[in-house]
Amino acid sequence: MVVGVLIEIENKAVDKIFDYQVPEKLEEKIKKGIRVKVPFGNRTLEGFIIEIKTETSYQKDLKELISIVDEEFVLTDEMLELGKWLQQETLASLISCYQAMLPKALKAKNGSVVSKKYKTIYTYLGIKNQKISEKQQEILSFFEKKKEITREEMPTISKARLDVLVKHGILKEEKKEWYRLSYQKEGKKKYPLTEDQEKVVKEVKESMDRIFLLHGVTGSGKTEVYMELIEDALKEGKQSIVLVPEISLTPQMISRFEQRFGSRIAALHSSLSEGEKYDEWRRIEKGEVDIVIGARSAVFAPLKKIGLIIIDEEHSPTYKQDVNPRYHTRDVAIKRALYHDGKVILGSATPTLESYARARKKVYHLLELPNRVNGRSLPKVVLIDMNKEIKYAIGHFSRPLIAAIKEKLEKKEQIILFLNRRGYSSVISCKNCGYALKCPNCDITLTYHKANNTLRCHYCGYGSNVIKQCPECHEMALQDLGVGTEKIEEELSHLFKDAKIIRMDVDTTSKKGSHKKMIESFANHEADILLGTQIVAKGLDFENVTLVGVLNCDTALMIPDFRSSENTFDLLSQVAGRCGRSKKEGKVYFQTYNKDHYAIVCAKNNTYHTFFQEEMKIRRMMKYPPYYYLVLIKIASKKQESALLEAKRCEKVLKKYLDQTILLGPSPAMLFKKQNIYRYQLILKYQYQNNLQEVLEKLDQYYKTNKEVKLEIDFNPIHM
Ligand code: ADP
Ligand code: ZN
Repeated sequence: MVVGVLIEIENKAVDKIFDYQVPEKLEEKIKKGIRVKVPFGNRTLEGFIIEIKTETSYQKDLKELISIVDEEFVLTDEMLELGKWLQQETLASLISCYQAMLPKALKAKNGSVVSKKYKTIYTYLGIKNQKISEKQQEILSFFEKKKEITREEMPTISKARLDVLVKHGILKEEKKEWYRLSYQKEGKKKYPLTEDQEKVVKEVKESMDRIFLLHGVTGSGKTEVYMELIEDALKEGKQSIVLVPEISLTPQMISRFEQRFGSRIAALHSSLSEGEKYDEWRRIEKGEVDIVIGARSAVFAPLKKIGLIIIDEEHSPTYKQDVNPRYHTRDVAIKRALYHDGKVILGSATPTLESYARARKKVYHLLELPNRVNGRSLPKVVLIDMNKEIKYAIGHFSRPLIAAIKEKLEKKEQIILFLNRRGYSSVISCKNCGYALKCPNCDITLTYHKANNTLRCHYCGYGSNVIKQCPECHEMALQDLGVGTEKIEEELSHLFKDAKIIRMDVDTTSKKGSHKKMIESFANHEADILLGTQIVAKGLDFENVTLVGVLNCDTALMIPDFRSSENTFDLLSQVAGRCGRSKKEGKVYFQTYNKDHYAIVCAKNNTYHTFFQEEMKIRRMMKYPPYYYLVLIKIASKKQESALLEAKRCEKVLKKYLDQTILLGPSPAMLFKKQNIYRYQLILKYQYQNNLQEVLEKLDQYYKTNKEVKLEIDFNPIHM
């Protein structure tokens, strides 16, 4: 027997299938998709069996397979096929595609494969005509409430005494696989659906369509709709995957599912240890789970009968993986749903322009929930014009915001303050009026390059000298405006001496469990003010929060990215939605220098449709998605000249073969120099270009073996 093995190795040049001879004693255990150890060069490596065959075309003597790593663990036929598709779609290596589907603990790379855990479990079988001593009765009293008890639950009883009962057939002793996490068993907390929710559920159930876009304002009860549909799928014996963006994968969301579905759920997210992830994966594999909740990679959960895949907050950029393979979760979900004949539901209060445009063209089935549950109103948003207020502000706080905070503190209600941390500190804007310099060709802000003191567009390469005077208000006030949460916290504690503040940002939440703790403590009203970055914007639901303040709406607008307006609109809508979710009415303050910008005005008025129309005009004019498709190509090297030279060569080749594509660049990438590697980029814009895949594949092949220059291709990029 001969098998084709795909080796786990991080070298695109050997991303091929190698043949191995199977020793006779292993033959009957060989299955497609199983993990094996093989000799490779002078090393022993792991890989997956991709093919089983009777003979090989390889001319020399074949090496022998060494062993099987895990007999139970198999990449299913669906996964094997999905991996090949993923490779074609992303041009990543095949092995990286399979690796993306598995939890880290199952990857051989670091050699630290997590082990299964076992526990000794005793089961009560019953007493026939045995005489039971008083001491034995003491042991059996443990079994009055539960039939199965672990050894750890009887710490006072010696092993010898248990052994006697096992010998008499009263107890059974066995080792069982034991999982590191546990869930509540009972649940079934459930609301009767509102009319609107009912209608949406019915529409999904009765429709023959496959992909649905559920556009529902924050608090419109989308999550309840998901749960209803999942329950329905369960009744038909089908399983579901619920995907959530990592930051909003709060304990709150999981506990809602847990309360309703009990231990039939598994949760996969980044704050689990490798061991916990491994266990969750095993439960899914063994069919002990019907609902998987998780971030991006949970779309690969090895469920065997998928009825439903839900992508909540579908607009979240975390659904695009930004390392190889650069897939979008939506595409994988649709592919899997096709395989299983299931349905996909994309849900959001602020759908991406791409998805909404598709829904309008009936590629996706559009569902709308325009109102909050039970007539609750969306909070009132007040815009504060910082151009006028800056003179009177204390630090970063305007007078109306200070007054509002004070009032809420007195009423013992809670406050969330949101500081929009700029993704890049290299954007220059006017301290007086908020104006930022933009590229005339690409409509994105220019990036400051310290090395040669210039401003550059990182899409098309346009350059300009640095100026100090603002062209808009003529003040000499152009500068980098970055401010951190620590500084704001300091200002806050000066302004409100008695207020208790929780600061939540990447620094304070890096420790495992700290995020959850902070949220719980805020929910218990152990603090008055929650101050945070993006991390507080999404998914939270606190009854007592009646004031939300956004300190700086403009920074997101200034990020040099064609989606900066969309991202600003999303973020502000989300933040505002955190407020007034229960009976108490909420109020929101946006501090901004751009009070007339449509992204800010539409977020204030909660008018998604107006925003969509305005933004679509610009996208059409500037030739961006959803009117055009994009491909981002990065050329990276330790030597700046080589990177630039090769970027220019790529440009030439692409120009020659892609006749219907607009080519931008080469230009310095957003992170031009990182860890001593220089990056240039080319951007492709196209509507139709039938040979695109073929040309890019050739280009990719060409650079596979190049040691000095690396090529990265990103289809439909999110960050550029
Ligand atoms: P979304 O996911 O759209 O933000 P949620 O599903 O979280 O909305 O619902 C918002 C709030 O309304 C939650 O507190 C939820 O428990 C409550 N809710 C949802 N549906 C109902 C219903 N049918 N009856 C009563 N309360 C509901
Ligand atoms: Zn430009």
